[in-house]
Amino acid sequence: MIEAEHLTKRYGDKTAVDDLSFTVVPGRVTGFLGPNGAGKSTTMRLLLGLDRPTRGDARIAGRHYRDLPAPMRVVGALLEARAVHTGRSAYNHLLCLAQTQGIGRRRVDEVADLVGLTDVARKRAGGFSLGMGQRLGIAAALLGDPSVLILDEPVNGLDPEGIVWIRTLMQRLAAQGRTVFVSSHLMNEMAVTADHLIVIGRGRLIADCSTEEFIERSTEKMVIVRSPDAARLADVLAAEGAKITPDGDTALTVTHMEAPRVGELAAAERIVLHELTPRRGSLEAAFMELTRDSVEYGAGTGPDGTAVPPPAPAVDGASDGAAPAEQGENR
Ligand code: ADP
Repeated sequence: MIEAEHLTKRYGDKTAVDDLSFTVVPGRVTGFLGPNGAGKSTTMRLLLGLDRPTRGDARIAGRHYRDLPAPMRVVGALLEARAVHTGRSAYNHLLCLAQTQGIGRRRVDEVADLVGLTDVARKRAGGFSLGMGQRLGIAAALLGDPSVLILDEPVNGLDPEGIVWIRTLMQRLAAQGRTVFVSSHLMNEMAVTADHLIVIGRGRLIADCSTEEFIERSTEKMVIVRSPDAARLADVLAAEGAKITPDGDTALTVTHMEAPRVGELAAAERIVLHELTPRRGSLEAAFMELTRDSVEYGAGTGPDGTAVPPPAPAVDGASDGAAPAEQGENR
């Protein structure tokens, strides 16, 4: 279990994490979601004792990280995958880490195999692609067979196959009863990976609920209707409180009314329907809307309101359910 209580971190006059309280429980994947700059990495550093909170408290398995006698056996973390000695082989990197905690060679082989690095384990880690570096970081996190995993943006740099692999791995680790806390700025990726979401913006808590509930709450339901008598149907539905957006002569997009009601009203008026499809709005768009005021800088303006070149999008992603790869994994 991970517990944050009124966690606050200020850097000078910048508040990176602002009075965050949440609990991450075992047995499910908890997504830590927020636009870039929301304070996810800072929170994770605070949990792992790599930074001191200005205020508040963070505990893992009931203790402060620094009080854990064999930390790697309790919590495995992936924060900065590139934090490796570049001249060392992947195998030696893992072996060095293992030896600091009395973990044997057999486990090093096991984790290298688990993350698919066995073939390149003797190669210099410095020559690894971003995706392979992520795999090495995940192997390191798993070395101590910990009951808690804290992974900061683990899909960054993975190709689509790698993304599916890490998603499956996280779900398997959670199903084994471990606590899995994983950050991402990608709504669509988290929607298909996490059971539960903790959403932050500008260091503050925005939502702490099941992924299902978040999707239910955030995305507007709409109904696509096609009818040869669309204009009359539009009048009937509007009179009952629906909001109608016509799409050509025969199609309507209906909001503020559920599909069964649309069908009932059409039947009552003997209006022929060619299509009646419930749809959801884009989850990514809903997330952007939700965190809009929490994104550090809006496009086109800097912190002081001056014009700046457009920043990288705070949230990227393709269509619903798809897991976009940010960069290819070069082997
Ligand atoms: P995220 O991981 O959600 O992208 P971060 O935790 O990296 O967000 O950053 C949150 C905010 O805190 C950002 O505005 C960032 O610039 C700022 N920040 C993070 N670390 C430091 C630091 N060491 N010194 C000053 N500001 C920092």
